[in-house]
Amino acid sequence: MDADRKIYLNGQLVPKEQAVVSVFDHGFLYGDGIFEGIRIYDGVIFRLDEHLERLYDSAKSILLDIPLTFEEMASAVLDTVRANGLQNGYIRLVISRGPGDLGLDPRSCPRANIVIIADTIQLFPQKFYEEGLKIVTVPTRRNPVGALNPQIKSLNYLNSVLVKIEAANAGCLEALTVNAEGYVCEGSGDNVFIVKKGRVYTPPVYLGALDGITRRSIIDLCEKLAIPLQESPFTRHDVFVADEVFLTGTAAELIPVVEVDRRTIGSGVPGEITKRLHRAFHELVRLDGRRL
Ligand code: PMP
Repeated sequence: MDADRKIYLNGQLVPKEQAVVSVFDHGFLYGDGIFEGIRIYDGVIFRLDEHLERLYDSAKSILLDIPLTFEEMASAVLDTVRANGLQNGYIRLVISRGPGDLGLDPRSCPRANIVIIADTIQLFPQKFYEEGLKIVTVPTRRNPVGALNPQIKSLNYLNSVLVKIEAANAGCLEALTVNAEGYVCEGSGDNVFIVKKGRVYTPPVYLGALDGITRRSIIDLCEKLAIPLQESPFTRHDVFVADEVFLTGTAAELIPVVEVDRRTIGSGVPGEITKRLHRAFHELVRLDGRRL
């Protein structure tokens, strides 16, 4: 990270050494808070409004009062990116419950902490965007919707961290989760799509996947390009026998998958529909969002 990065902390842009929060913050003590990850492409903050809507929905769901209006938050994001002179990069927006006492009760935390970091990111080495990733499915199940709903983009990301650890233990950079019934959910930080006989499938989010904004944009692009798409449940078996598999996420963007649990997907190289959507996605991201 750039030494002179400016971090937004509760209304001020401060040097990164001064961007510190209390150890009594319930975000630190309990993962009590929410976050967003957003990309900037050539000066366009891709679907900023959708990210902020999801942020405010997450806050509402956990009864977290964000002390900024939607427009104030949008301005804070734009100001932070401008202050860091970034035309391309990644924004991490974190709202923690704020400092309180050692008990769980969030009523001891009178004021949330708001942090905005604008930086650069490269989630996977570039060659995998061309060659495709080899991934595994992991034993850890995705959080059930009745426990910690994956729609809440909470600071409690241990479920995803465990998935990442299990992926690394298997020598992979990413992995897929299934839910308690064995239906495929998503990756540690990305949504999953499969292609079979020209049709694209992605799991319905209620099975246990985040309603990803990249996922939504792929659904939109399929419609625009007249590629049939269905949100329907599928299993590991369906993934193994798919013609194409790819993952989507803000940080991951669109990345092909060419092997799952040692089963080669299709002919072992990124497929035609994946490549078409990849191209269309990279055109879209420079058009659809707020300009700096
Ligand atoms: N699933 C999980 C668990 C994630 O953390 C993310 C990244 N935010 C995604 C999917 C992809 O969502 P998006 O496209 O909105 O980044």
